[in-house]
Amino acid sequence: MEIILGKTAGFCYGVKRAVDGAKEQLKKATNEIYCLGEIVHNEEVINDLKKEGLRFVEDVKESKGDTIIRAHGVPKNVYKEAKIKKINLYDYTCPKVLKIHEIAEKYAKDGFYILLCGSKTHPENIGTLSFCGKNCSVIETVEEATKEIENLRKSKFKKVLLISQTTYKLEKFSKIEEIIKEKLSQGFIVEVINTICKATELRQIETKEIAKKVEYMIIIGGKKSSNTQKLYEIAKENCKHSICIQTKDEINIEEMSNYEKIGIMAGASTPMKSIENVIKFFKEGNVKNRHFDMKVKNVDFCDEKL
Ligand code: SF4
Repeated sequence: MEIILGKTAGFCYGVKRAVDGAKEQLKKATNEIYCLGEIVHNEEVINDLKKEGLRFVEDVKESKGDTIIRAHGVPKNVYKEAKIKKINLYDYTCPKVLKIHEIAEKYAKDGFYILLCGSKTHPENIGTLSFCGKNCSVIETVEEATKEIENLRKSKFKKVLLISQTTYKLEKFSKIEEIIKEKLSQGFIVEVINTICKATELRQIETKEIAKKVEYMIIIGGKKSSNTQKLYEIAKENCKHSICIQTKDEINIEEMSNYEKIGIMAGASTPMKSIENVIKFFKEGNVKNRHFDMKVKNVDFCDEKL
């Protein structure tokens, strides 16, 4: 059996920074430390931090002291409320997300209608929307984008900005960019800023490359992790037999024995421990009668530049 492990699998820069930061604060803390929402969308990471003493709350109103802001940011009002409550914030919002907030705020001030590609319920977009002013909408699909663009053609708005969630699918964003440029070519000022994170883009490209070469593709990551789910979508599109798992316990040994070439990728919020456990599972000969040959070494877990 041959296994190809993605070079970019696992923690990205922003996730590593937030998780390491939280651990550092926990070590230094003399009082309880809170975290607003899930620091990253990965159960194993959250459970480990809970064991180390981090308290997770959904609202800044529930925080009683030093509070960590997660990698994918919070809405603008959180900063104000924390100030009123005299809460000390450790802001680990990823610089990539802060950049999107900055762009959204600037263009909103300049009178642009903002189209944000991404999930309506994802915390990152809820945060970004608070910087977009009143004239904005979140679009999840190409169909929704087409409808919104049609509405904009008939509206009073003449300036439109297209941006996206950091983990949005690159191919979908490019398609929407094409439509917007075609439909709003006359009488509109259209600005398109690709705010998909490089970390996301690299993992998507590599997933596609590996999925095309293998018979079976394993994506490791949290069920709520947007970037992991995108990798799973890409894997399925390019490899008929693809699965998405959180831990090695979800691997079906019987099924694995049918394949010679297996690909492994992991989302940007998947800890190294989860990836190593899967590799160990194969190395320890859990798949019978197979010679194991790891083709690609995962040497660097956050190789992308911001
Ligand atoms: S995926 Fe990108 S934007 Fe999100 S935390 Fe990682 S580096 Fe930052």
